[in-house]
Amino acid sequence: MELSEKVKSITPSQTIEITNAARKLREEGVDIISLSAGEPDFNTPTEVIEAAHQAALDGHTKYTASTGIPELRQAIAKKMRDDNQLDYSPEEIYVGNGAKQVLYNIFLATLNPGDEVLLPSPYWVSYGEQIKMVGAEPVTIQTGEENGFKLTPEQLKAHITEKTKMIVLNSPNNPTGTVYSKEDLQKLADVLEHTDIIVVVDEIYEILTYGTDHVSIASLGDKIKSQSIIVNGFSKSHAMTGWRVGYACGPANLITALGSLTSQSTTSVASVSQYAAISAYNMDSEYRKDYVQIFQNRRDNAYEKITGLPYVRCLKPDGAFYLFPYMREAAVKCGYDSVDSFVKAILAETYVAIVPGSAFGSEDYARVSYSVDQAHLNEAMDRIKEFIDKKT
Ligand code: PLP
Repeated sequence: MELSEKVKSITPSQTIEITNAARKLREEGVDIISLSAGEPDFNTPTEVIEAAHQAALDGHTKYTASTGIPELRQAIAKKMRDDNQLDYSPEEIYVGNGAKQVLYNIFLATLNPGDEVLLPSPYWVSYGEQIKMVGAEPVTIQTGEENGFKLTPEQLKAHITEKTKMIVLNSPNNPTGTVYSKEDLQKLADVLEHTDIIVVVDEIYEILTYGTDHVSIASLGDKIKSQSIIVNGFSKSHAMTGWRVGYACGPANLITALGSLTSQSTTSVASVSQYAAISAYNMDSEYRKDYVQIFQNRRDNAYEKITGLPYVRCLKPDGAFYLFPYMREAAVKCGYDSVDSFVKAILAETYVAIVPGSAFGSEDYARVSYSVDQAHLNEAMDRIKEFIDKKT
């Protein structure tokens, strides 16, 4: 069948491809350890599952409003007030099928062909592809280890043109784990406030910070808030990736447009998932504390292990559940001309899956997810160490 030019230009998500390849090998009985996952390895909390069950029994099994059920929009408004000191009315909140679809709908609703979107790199795999899908142009800005993989105000200023319509910020960051401080964000806001640039802030890893507070750029003043669209969801905060619930907070006219788009595409998020999401935000705060502590312990252990690998260096990440080590030197010492081929050889010879940095716009690095139990992570690191020792 002849496919459209648009679809032919899309690169499928490399992280999902590698995760699928690892899953297939495991099904074939290979003793694979996948450090490629972009999702918490826990099950969804029982009370959230029970809330979905009860909602179904209560007859909440029909289409819902395209912007989300009122009770969930209210629960999100409360969360934004309590956790982020931000006032959004339910009319300024849209619920979509995961943050991924929320982002896509935002791009559809705001971008015209030829518009430029600033994308600090390393970036999450889907931003650039989604932006291209709506005919706009991603303009990447390479950040570096020397600045903790943070976009500087000077870099931002240097990339703004008359075609710049939007910037996408992501903190805590996938893949680097970088968390922008209030001061970092203030400096960026000082530049952005003098423009009409739309600021999309992806805060999906918000709760996963270790000793550094998450700050939303929208909380820094009325002007920057009026330019901002906050994107968040339940996937990473409550181990709910399969339930597909994400949301956006922003100007009411945008939210109405997102609802119109949804009414003609997917109608609404699954009704029971929305009820499950309400119960997630009503959970005891102890859940959150324990959840973050587990990831912080894993981060500490994973960081120690990765920095113990020969020829590998890595910044200590402050958030999310990824390490982003520099792997080029190790690749070259082992006889590979790229981190891509090094990562492939590691998978083929040690059965450990990690994601090459090229998927995120930084080909000399790789992403290592520590959303696995420590015993598996340690075993994986031992295998990679043995591999490097053998080849050098
Ligand atoms: N944004 C970032 C930075 C992510 O890493 C992910 C998932 O990996 C998403 C958005 C999408 O999350 P959701 O499951 O809500 O679609």
